[in-house]
Amino acid sequence: MEHHSIVVGLPDWLEDVWSEANGQIPSSGERMDFVIELARKNFEHGTGGPFGAAVFDQDGRLVAPGVNQVVPAHCSILHAEIVALALTEDALGRFDIGDSGRLKYELVSSTEPCAMCAGAILWSGISRLVCGARDEDARAIGFDEGPKLPSWVQEFEDREVEVVRDVRRFEAAAVLQRYAGSGGEIYNSGVAAI
Ligand SMILES: [Zn+2]
Repeated sequence: MEHHSIVVGLPDWLEDVWSEANGQIPSSGERMDFVIELARKNFEHGTGGPFGAAVFDQDGRLVAPGVNQVVPAHCSILHAEIVALALTEDALGRFDIGDSGRLKYELVSSTEPCAMCAGAILWSGISRLVCGARDEDARAIGFDEGPKLPSWVQEFEDREVEVVRDVRRFEAAAVLQRYAGSGGEIYNSGVAAI
């Protein structure tokens, strides 16, 4: 019987960016600039779709970045948010990033989470989500975001996850548009879209 395994890692170019970005990024807007740049570089390098994310601690220090790697890794769960969360959990050595609410961590994502990532965020112990483009911006170029509850922001807030939307939305959506305009692959499963 053949055994398989997957490794959640990062493209080589992002390892370099990560090692250079070890200081604090003080504002949410600048942290969003950072993840939008990850989204742009990811498709320009041909290492995945136009989505970036990163987890920061309460002092604005980068804990771990993530980029979408669905197509090159042949793995439908490797969205940017999932990669950033998994690498953060590995870096911290615990599955509950906030350590039972004792510590505050922020996930910054270039686009609002899809249905899968919305679930993953709630299971991760993140206490703040900052989003750039809206999910309708991703849908506008053909990506399926899945069956998210219309009340997802309230659901997050009810679970003490603060949601901040529309940070640099125009710039984040422009990366999606540029990806679509360059003929980038729109990859969805055959069954998710309705
Ligand atoms: Zn997702």
